Amino acid sequence: MYTARDIASLRVRRREWAAAGLKVGLVPTMGFFHEGHLALMRRARELCGRVVVSLFVNPIQFGPGEDLASYPRDLDRDRELAAAAGADLLFVPSEEEMYPAGPPSTRVVPGEMASALCGRFRPGHFDGVCTVVAKLFNMVQPDVAVFGRKDFQQLAIIRRMVRDLDFPVEIIAHPTVREPDGLAMSSRNSYLSPDEREQAVCLVEGMRLAKRLYNEGERSCGRLRQEVSSLISGYPLARIEYVELVDSRSLAPVERADDHTLLALAVRVGSTRLIDNTILADRDLP
Ligand code: AMP
Repeated sequence: MYTARDIASLRVRRREWAAAGLKVGLVPTMGFFHEGHLALMRRARELCGRVVVSLFVNPIQFGPGEDLASYPRDLDRDRELAAAAGADLLFVPSEEEMYPAGPPSTRVVPGEMASALCGRFRPGHFDGVCTVVAKLFNMVQPDVAVFGRKDFQQLAIIRRMVRDLDFPVEIIAHPTVREPDGLAMSSRNSYLSPDEREQAVCLVEGMRLAKRLYNEGERSCGRLRQEVSSLISGYPLARIEYVELVDSRSLAPVERADDHTLLALAVRVGSTRLIDNTILADRDLP
């Protein structure tokens, strides 16, 4: 696996692959790899002749007071894991390489979908995400890009950006990879103390409860929301940011649940902010 730190050497490789007629997959990440990231890389490997993994902790998607400075990093370990998962090129740009003129004055600003869910609590976050993903698409020119359903809102917004701006890339969604107890894997799980780690199952327990009620015929989103909220509130270290039921296509709130309804959660466990989501009708949880 080749490591590129600058755009010019990335482009040299990209041109060679284009000349050889190889299909190129991209997996954008912020590093500190876990099985979720590696599953995305393996998927890209199955679909493409060459796989680029980008690793960049993107400052413009973090708000003031968020965890930009403390975000976990371990490049040597990440390099080994990405190579073993089949990446051909790890692209690790510096902040100067990515934003040579400082924070970019031209940004990709997503519409309506970005003001729901996490957008309400992280103003500007999805502008930062769309801007960096658009830049990565321009740099790597992938045929395929793989994103995790764990960040469902991000995935929906990027799909829309690709349609709106005609990026010639196919977006592939990968299911959420979980720990044996159901906790969604996340680089931020490394922040959790042992007590917090135990209580972090409150998100998946809330989702399991909502699915059970939905399968038993409950369709009132008010009632589902209330049941999930009260289950999570029973965990002393958990503080709910939001528990929402939305249409999985538009992310607009819904009152009556149906097979397209997405339950999305953001919960602080101690000071760590965790998110998760599930379509109520899907049998996707352990
Ligand atoms: P991050 O490094 O957290 O920005 O994530 C990079 C990519 O990995 C995004 O597309 C995420 O949605 C995806 N991802 C993160 N955690 C998981 C997980 N547990 N399962 C599947 N994909 C994930």
